[in-house]
Amino acid sequence: AATVVSGRELARQIHKEVQSDTAKLVAQGNRPHLSVILVGDDHASHTYMRNKARAASLLGMSSSTIFRPSSVSQEEMLELIDKFNRDRSISGLLVQLPLPEHFSERAICNAVAPEKDVDGFHIVNIGKLCLDQRCMVPATAAAVWEIIRRTGIETVGKNVLVVGHSKNVGMPIAMLLHSDRNHERPGGDATVVMAHRCTPLPRLKELASLADIVIAAAGVPHLITADILKEGAAVIDVGINRLQDPVTGKLRLVGDVDFEAVKEKAGFISPVPGGVGPMAVAMVMKNTVTAAKNAPTY
Ligand code: NAD
Repeated sequence: AATVVSGRELARQIHKEVQSDTAKLVAQGNRPHLSVILVGDDHASHTYMRNKARAASLLGMSSSTIFRPSSVSQEEMLELIDKFNRDRSISGLLVQLPLPEHFSERAICNAVAPEKDVDGFHIVNIGKLCLDQRCMVPATAAAVWEIIRRTGIETVGKNVLVVGHSKNVGMPIAMLLHSDRNHERPGGDATVVMAHRCTPLPRLKELASLADIVIAAAGVPHLITADILKEGAAVIDVGINRLQDPVTGKLRLVGDVDFEAVKEKAGFISPVPGGVGPMAVAMVMKNTVTAAKNAPTY
């Protein structure tokens, strides 16, 4: 049976590191500050925002959340972001996605100053990511990377299957894992294949059966089943799906992996909840400390 990787435990390790870095910055009169802009009343977005605010205060950082109704205009948002970019008391700034339909998310992400962009979604940070340069790495991809590193899962020369090719999640994960370990921002030197919604199911199964590491980021419950996996594979579940329990009627969180069956066959498995989620929050905190360290002192 697989080793179940505790994202909560690994997040605690990162928290300790971030906490000690934060204490040093505070001693220099530079307390890291995270600002979150939250538009509308999406339930999941509010939960993510609260998790980040709680983590920030736990680690000795300060944070603030600015709420705007979903009717807020793009122009007003751009002005707000511009104000925060110029505010030297703010180290890290993120706009919680998704935004309402009338927004261009690209325009909003590009408005955040790259050095404060703790989500790593600014076009400059994405460009650097793709060139293996040091940059703000998107938190979810950074979380997957740290889980692999801290669990001691080998990547060099291994076959990795990333399921999902979104620009915010699947793409940066694949970028970290396939790139050169000797570059400025070290990569995993794995042979990476990406599957997505146009990948025929038989092909997905074939690719999964060859993979030493499978990263599921599709948002499709039970997409990754035990029968398609190689014995001993490492399986990292990024998916977050809310399913209604047929018996109790309650909503419960599941990933993209058929956890109970897969844990009997895999070598490593990260659960949902308690896997990538808490690690992603920790990585936002790490990015915020990095932003505070890099902030000009004048
Ligand atoms: P998205 O909807 O933007 O992208 C989904 C991707 O999955 C697409 O590339 C699509 O082509 C692919 N896909 C869809 N159906 C598929 C199928 N049947 N087979 C193979 N590929 C398929 O979503 P996203 O923002 O990339 O997020 C992916 C999942 O990860 C979601 O469940 C989301 O909630 C979750 N997520 C988790 C975290 C975290 O911190 N744990 C953060 C962000 C997103």
